[in-house]
Amino acid sequence: MTHAIVARQAGGPEVLEYADVDRPIPGPGQLLVKVAAAGVNFIDTYKRSGVYKVPYPFTPGSEAAGTVEEVGEGVTAFVSGDRVATAEGHDCYAGYALVDADKALPVPDGLDDFTAAALPLQGLTAHYLINSTFKVEAGHNVLLHAGAGGVGLLLIQLLKAKGARVLTTVSTDEKEQLAREAGADHVLRYEGFPHHVRELTNGKGVDVVYDGVGRDTFDGSLSSLRVRGMLALFGAASGPVPPVDPQRLNAGGSLFLTRPTMGHYLRDEAERRWRSDEIFAAAAGGSLKVRIGARYPLSQAGQAHRDLEGRKTTGKVLLVP
Ligand code: NDP
Repeated sequence: MTHAIVARQAGGPEVLEYADVDRPIPGPGQLLVKVAAAGVNFIDTYKRSGVYKVPYPFTPGSEAAGTVEEVGEGVTAFVSGDRVATAEGHDCYAGYALVDADKALPVPDGLDDFTAAALPLQGLTAHYLINSTFKVEAGHNVLLHAGAGGVGLLLIQLLKAKGARVLTTVSTDEKEQLAREAGADHVLRYEGFPHHVRELTNGKGVDVVYDGVGRDTFDGSLSSLRVRGMLALFGAASGPVPPVDPQRLNAGGSLFLTRPTMGHYLRDEAERRWRSDEIFAAAAGGSLKVRIGARYPLSQAGQAHRDLEGRKTTGKVLLVP
């Protein structure tokens, strides 16, 4: 037996029950991983609340790191005892999780288990957003929202490493401090941010906005772009954006709008390894700092969701079985 978080219906954080469950058995091509820590991500809250449909009973979690305990038939790339992480797992809020071997990332020696669990999903996301969704180059002006969040703190550092000028929004003084320490050039509050962005770019607007906040920031994000700038709407922490009239992109200056998701930027082994090798190497080498803002026992998954949705967290949130 082991423990897992189980939801039997959609709802608030209270639907996340801590339950005894059977230890899973790895099928062909799978690894059984003893979870050292599972990452909490906003998408877990969308699935819990019913914004995204899932089958029940449902165990959240697509991110974890730990040690391979057993390998399924046909697995040759990993053996028992290997340390792995994943951003594409299933049912990771648990003591043991099954991970498809082709989606398992080897963890380098220089990275501890908690950092390895904290990095994959938000790190791969930050990587694809700035290297592939919009290829950021030195001198670009970039606006990103929620700069002290999990994706936000990683984005700021990776953008600064590319030589971009980084503008970011946050809601509190503590978060402002964290965004500054990560390297942001200008830290704004949400109130009136498009106006401040114009001022800071001599009226021109930014080359790209990375917006994971969604409903509350979408209009302001569009108004912050330069002519032919791009809005990468990659999440909806404040709620989903209502339907948009494409004519607004014309009026805004022949703008580009995209709604990217991680799976489409990890299309094969080569792409997955390119991105994960770069972010793991940066973290292991110390150039990319991974802030673990909070660690909760697995049994407290509901509280972790409450705090993430309540804007109380910074950096990464982990669950420890
Ligand atoms: P964060 O740690 O960034 O937490 C969300 C932050 O959003 C909050 O801390 C808060 O920061 C800000 N926020 C603004 N308005 C609200 C609101 N009304 N309710 C809650 N939070 C709000 O989370 P993650 O780093 O895990 O994820 C950030 C976004 O990225 C999410 O939308 C997520 O879905 C998305 N994402 C998308 C992926 C993709 O591939 N498309 C992959 C990974 C994440 P503040 O208080 O400073 O405003």
